[in-house]
Amino acid sequence: MHPFTFSRTTDPATAIAAHAQDPYLAFIAGGTDLIGLMKDHAALPERLLDISGLPAMARIEALPDGGLRIGALARMSDVAADVEVRRRFPVIAESLLFAASGQLRNMASMGGNIMQRTRCTYFRDEDDLPCNKRRPGSGCAALYGLNRLHAIFGWSDDCVATNPSDVAVAFAALDANVIVQGPRGERSITFTEFHRLPGNTPERDNVLERGDLIISIEIPPRIEGRASYYLKLRDRQSYEFALVSAAAAVAMDGRRIRSARVAMGGVAHKPWRLTAAEAALPGVSLDDIEALKAAIATSFIDARPLAHNGFKVELGQRVALRALQVAGGRA
Ligand SMILES: Cc1cc2nc3c(=O)[nH]c(=O)nc-3n(C[C@H](O)[C@H](O)[C@H](O)COP(=O)(O)OP(=O)(O)OC[C@H]3O[C@@H](n4cnc5c(N)ncnc54)[C@H](O)[C@@H]3O)c2cc1C
Ligand code: SF4
Repeated sequence: MHPFTFSRTTDPATAIAAHAQDPYLAFIAGGTDLIGLMKDHAALPERLLDISGLPAMARIEALPDGGLRIGALARMSDVAADVEVRRRFPVIAESLLFAASGQLRNMASMGGNIMQRTRCTYFRDEDDLPCNKRRPGSGCAALYGLNRLHAIFGWSDDCVATNPSDVAVAFAALDANVIVQGPRGERSITFTEFHRLPGNTPERDNVLERGDLIISIEIPPRIEGRASYYLKLRDRQSYEFALVSAAAAVAMDGRRIRSARVAMGGVAHKPWRLTAAEAALPGVSLDDIEALKAAIATSFIDARPLAHNGFKVELGQRVALRALQVAGGRA
């Protein structure tokens, strides 16, 4: 194991300043991803700063306007069990319950979840195979290697990895905001802009800078919130990351869709919004399967499967269809 020092802080300003000044310092919350990365030598911080004692960051607040504020240190299991989360945005609770295991969810924080790194085996592997995310400039072993689990949208020749977070897919569908405090104060980042596409800098997963501390995730009130659903398909029924997943949220006029929000997981370096489908879905009846399929297909025109993951193009459309049907049935 790589040697490191460990300290704690209960003061956000101290945490932000320490992180901004020291490139070898990493925040640790539940440790369920970071410790694994350190064991795999995919992250080698020299100093760990435990932020789990920062005050008032584990709250789950139901806001009077119908939205939610989820503290970055709230545990996945607490958020999944929260009555208002389940009532207002079932898609959030479901995406959490489909993730990891009970023990992991009891440790893992929401901030750590949206910061977790890809599960690309070449990235996690210690065998020093080419991986631009792990060692910039070394190449991408997955591009022409085993890429069954990799991206079909938005990838570059430098990286074809997917983002592994389930709840990030729900947050993207709901246009949540990530509230961040950094050396220059507080700012709000739209969820769809929080994670990045790989481009030629795949070592950067998101837009955070040194010194940035995630404080909370805010979900604005959404007319589509209650009729929402998360569907995750994976190689085994539990304790597995998504092959393909979909978060769908709809507002209905009877059996017709008034508005729809759909995001997918397991298909890109970031949660992937089906914006073309969202534009085509209003007015479509839930009973008109062909029209639903046609609307969803508009978002798959630009899919670019790799050698081993062509099945995700068909599977993704089926998952989106099923998620929409179940979400619509909840209205
Ligand atoms: C076996 C296994 C199976 C899993 N299966 C799934 C799954 O199916 N679906 C899924 O979504 N997830 C899954 N996970 C991932 C799990 O959800 C994450 O490991 C967990 O959410 C990370 O939270 P943490 O608090 O432990 O983060 P940590 O490991 O403590 O931190 C992770 C990263 O986030 C940074 N960080 C943490 N908090 C903050 C903050 N407030 N501000 C800025 N940076 C911060 C840390 O510096 C670190 O870089 C699985 C994990 C394991 C080990
Ligand atoms: S897909 Fe990305 S993470 Fe995987 S080997 Fe290629 S560069 Fe590394």
